Amino acid sequence: MHEALNTQTMTDQAVALAGLLRQARRAVVFTGAGISTESGIPDFRSPGGIWTRMMPIDFADYVADPAARKESWRRRFEMEETWTSVKPNEGHIAVAELMRRGIVGHVITQNIDALHQAAGVPANQMIELHGNTSYAKCLDCERRMEIADIRAHFEAYDDAPACPNCGGIIKTATISFGQAMPEGEMERAEAAVAACDLCLVAGSSLQVYPAASFPLKAKRKGAALVILNREATPQDPYADLVIHDEIGPVLSSAVKHL
Ligand code: NAD
Ligand code: ZN
Repeated sequence: MHEALNTQTMTDQAVALAGLLRQARRAVVFTGAGISTESGIPDFRSPGGIWTRMMPIDFADYVADPAARKESWRRRFEMEETWTSVKPNEGHIAVAELMRRGIVGHVITQNIDALHQAAGVPANQMIELHGNTSYAKCLDCERRMEIADIRAHFEAYDDAPACPNCGGIIKTATISFGQAMPEGEMERAEAAVAACDLCLVAGSSLQVYPAASFPLKAKRKGAALVILNREATPQDPYADLVIHDEIGPVLSSAVKHL
């Protein structure tokens, strides 16, 4: 009986979400680590998440301390199997479907896993605020380098290579705590949010700024705000609809009720 009650609530919420989506023509979906947990990638702040096991390495430490860089690469190589084998889940697939139907114009993500693109979101409608871990870049000249080549060097010399172009420090193409946000992606996100009629947050604790400022900006410009997250977020009081449930089942049910 308890289960039936939960199912009923979930369907009601998915129907309410579908109702808002049906009225939207240029919605923005704003995602965080929570949309990828159903693919098997742990998030930061859930119990047992990455945060509780490993302190992230700040940008300043990465630049200043060779030992921090080594530790960062060691962690990255440890994750290689995960990053290359992981698949989009029904949440990513529902978002891509909303885009195909012309309801969603852009996806803004804090994730570095490229799973939205793997589900079919075109690159020109994708905004990656915290970069992408599938390759690396020189911090000075931005020359692209492949993870496999860096790994081979690391295994031979117990260190990552310097940039072959300028001698600069190589880092995965992700944004660490303390690192400047990518200007182009920030501008694209500002434009998408200014033009959107609905902002759907899925799987973000909305605690990491400046990324977390985008949903509130959308709301201030007159867009409807929906927050779909397992636990409460600081922006729940400003939302038109709050759903505290699992992302994959709710989003795929909402697509079915469109
Ligand atoms: P976060 O860990 O702070 O928050 C994730 C939220 O998602 C939590 O509030 C959690 O309750 C919720 N959640 C988890 N699984 C869910 C599910 N199946 N259904 C509904 N809700 C669920 O993540 P954040 O807000 O993205 O911020 C953390 C930072 O860490 C980001 O900047 C991101 O770049 C990075 N990160 C990325 C990945 C990835 O690329 N997949 C993974 C971990 C961390
Ligand atoms: Zn360089």
